[in-house]
Amino acid sequence: LGRQGLQQHDVTERGRVAIVMAASRGLGRACAEALAKEGVCVLICARGAGDLKAAASELESLGSKASAVQADVSRSEDIKAVFRQCDEAFGGLDVLVCNAGGPPTGDFMSLDEDSWRVAYELTLMSAVRAIRLAIPRMQRRGQGRIILIGSSSVRMPLPNLALSNVFRPALVGLVKMLARDLGKDQITVNMVSPGRIATDRVRQLDEARAVRDQTSYSVVRSDSEQQIPMGRYGLPAELASVVAFLASAKASYVTGQTILVDGGLVASLP
Ligand code: NAD
Repeated sequence: LGRQGLQQHDVTERGRVAIVMAASRGLGRACAEALAKEGVCVLICARGAGDLKAAASELESLGSKASAVQADVSRSEDIKAVFRQCDEAFGGLDVLVCNAGGPPTGDFMSLDEDSWRVAYELTLMSAVRAIRLAIPRMQRRGQGRIILIGSSSVRMPLPNLALSNVFRPALVGLVKMLARDLGKDQITVNMVSPGRIATDRVRQLDEARAVRDQTSYSVVRSDSEQQIPMGRYGLPAELASVVAFLASAKASYVTGQTILVDGGLVASLP
């Protein structure tokens, strides 16, 4: 190991600082919880004040420091406010988990230009803006971890999710490029991509499909589970544990990767 690598292994998780975007519910919240359990100080954001407050006090009850900011991650000013709050609350940044609500659904011809603009801001630019703010802070720390929550659409286009199919692969390009650019700073950049993890978003997608196919939610869910080699949807904590590993000192030499957490759903190589 080089000198910096050795220094990194000396870092314990306790007292490190993470921002988890869009974390009042679902995968973001599970990631915040997994990090808090490791002793990482966590700043979360989301749009709704109520859910956010509940999530922050839950995080504190796990024994870590937590802070919360109301923010719409598709807005540049709101992302800046998140980083300002992190500076004030914790005085630095070690880990950024880029997450956002899912983009509008629809196939290619059904989506109007406004939907494309929404997805551009929400899915692509939220990560671009947050990472631009995170990099100088991590460079000051002499290391960092950037983890993007993606989708299995980066390996296999999904039906009725044209915007995910287009914007998420762009983020894979960003991950690969930044891994090369930031390696010298001991900053790792990776993506964790869910297949079907049981959250409100996946339930809404299944309910919408039940309406389209004129069937019931339980039929859609059971059909969907049958396509997954492990025969079930994942739990948010099962994705979050991979994020917590990539955020940890143990993952100091893993960068530029897209890791699927999908119970074997995507059959493509690699
Ligand atoms: P979710 O809808 O259950 O939770 C989304 C969270 O993001 C909530 O806390 C919500 O308040 C917050 N949020 C939404 N829009 C926001 C905004 N503009 N600004 C700030 N916060 C916002 O969704 P999820 O299942 O946890 O998914 C998280 C991401 O992962 C989404 O982009 C989704 O498309 C993607 N994804 C999820 C799955 C899955 O299996 N759950 C699969 C593929 C991709």
